Amino acid sequence: MEIDLNVLAYLLGKGKSYVEKAVQGTGYLPRTVLGVGTNLIDTDGNIDLLAPKPRATYEKFLKPLLFDVPCQGLDGAASCQGNGIIEGELLLKSYRDEELRCSACRAAIATQAVN
Ligand SMILES: [Zn+2]
Repeated sequence: MEIDLNVLAYLLGKGKSYVEKAVQGTGYLPRTVLGVGTNLIDTDGNIDLLAPKPRATYEKFLKPLLFDVPCQGLDGAASCQGNGIIEGELLLKSYRDEELRCSACRAAIATQAVN
């Protein structure tokens, strides 16, 4: 799976609160994770170039934020109308708008708004 560098760049900048939240309580420092992210930007997202330790940090914190972001559903995760995961192409928008929803939930909400 290819890393969306736009999403990654967002998480290292304006969206860094998402990283901080993921790291919270784990004993890791946000700047460690952000540093790994910066390295990835420099290598165009080539995780094969990461040494084992940064690679583990990537797998633990950044990968879930890039590929496995749960949809918050219409009213909590259990009410998701899709498969529970936000599509890659909606991630940047979701982070930016702080509306973590998949396309199916967005469509459902749009329908409700019309009715
Ligand atoms: Zn959903």
